[in-house]
Amino acid sequence: MLSYTDARQKVIEVVRARGPLTAVESLPLDRVAGRILAEAVVADRDYPPFDRATRDGFALRSSDVATSRGPMEVRGEIRAGAVFTGEITPGTCAQIMTGAAVPRGADAVVMIEHTRIAGRSVFVEGSVTAGQNIVPKGREAKAGQQLLPGGTRLGYAELAITGQVGHTPARVFRCPQVALLSTGDEVVGIGAKPGPVEIRNSNCLSLAAQVALAGGEAVPLGNSPDRVLELRAMIEQGLKSDVLVVTGGVSMGKYDLVEGVLRDLGAEFFFDAVAIRPGRPAVFGYCQGKPVFGLPGNPVSTMVTFELFAAPAIEIVGGATPRPLPLFKAKLGAPVQQKAELTHFLPAAVSWTTGEAVVSVLPWQGSGDIVVLAQSNAFLVVPATKLEWAAGEWVDVMPRRGVL
Ligand code: AMP
Ligand code: MG
Repeated sequence: MLSYTDARQKVIEVVRARGPLTAVESLPLDRVAGRILAEAVVADRDYPPFDRATRDGFALRSSDVATSRGPMEVRGEIRAGAVFTGEITPGTCAQIMTGAAVPRGADAVVMIEHTRIAGRSVFVEGSVTAGQNIVPKGREAKAGQQLLPGGTRLGYAELAITGQVGHTPARVFRCPQVALLSTGDEVVGIGAKPGPVEIRNSNCLSLAAQVALAGGEAVPLGNSPDRVLELRAMIEQGLKSDVLVVTGGVSMGKYDLVEGVLRDLGAEFFFDAVAIRPGRPAVFGYCQGKPVFGLPGNPVSTMVTFELFAAPAIEIVGGATPRPLPLFKAKLGAPVQQKAELTHFLPAAVSWTTGEAVVSVLPWQGSGDIVVLAQSNAFLVVPATKLEWAAGEWVDVMPRRGVL
């Protein structure tokens, strides 16, 4: 059985080999937050475009201060956005604001806090070095330089630079359509009044939210009963999308039909079990040219296996590099014992109240227990290598995307 890291790597390799969607769209920058660039962004001019003052103060010649601290004659005022045509000659200076262009002749800006103003003159306190509080023209980027390669996710900093260079509209990959199909005779819609042994379809909601976090567009197909004909028809419907995620019906039960139906439709499978709990029966394959995931239906299993395996596939199909799993180390607040030889993902709460990350496992009733999961902010990742973990040991934690 594959480890979760090998299974995830397998997904990444297989989906990458088939490449991203080719469809792109051109959108104004106020509509591309979180989208994936389908082209490079290039500097339209030098950045900064002029020698930029980074402090409010006085622009002057640093060599002047080496011999005398003043008085220096103030030749004028330079506001951000203003053009100053004069030159700073020996013994003179200009008052300058943050973001303004440093005038000819000056090679340093002294912070106003380090000066003393006396009428139309200024005395300098503290040391002055050439280039101080100035970012020279072109130091951040040269005209024509590539700032973001295609495939970049447009987060806030990326958006800022794209806007700064006037690159609008931007060509971005179309969001992958991810069909979501739940299965189970007991599953009813969230708006329904369930019978005594029925449950509402929570997976369709949690998955849609996870799809959005991965950069996809959810296409909810609803629920199929555990009957081959209906299931087959709905899976065929789902295969019209770019990626298909089916939940439930992949375990060993008599009515776990998903893998068989996919096989009948020509699927090729890369794994159908992973050494994790929850989530062991997770299935990954390709069917009719589309990546397909069969995730176990217990809600926490669905969430964990989506994050580990389906999310990177959606990211690659959408033109991005898959984000690494953001595991970090935290100190165990209380001992943990694990029985089975599987990597466990346990609902956990991480806090930093002591100044370092401390993680506690939340007592739960297993992978159907979303009551507890909703109180967690992370999963404690307990590898199969060791069965007993003492309080104070450093362990791996996987934050819940979108919560932590
Ligand atoms: P399965 O993977 O089909 O064996 O289902 C495992 C457990 O998850 C059962 O208790 C199901 O009732 C539950 N389950 C399956 N699908 C859903 C769903 N869409 N929403 C909530 N719970 C589900
Ligand atoms: Mg089922």
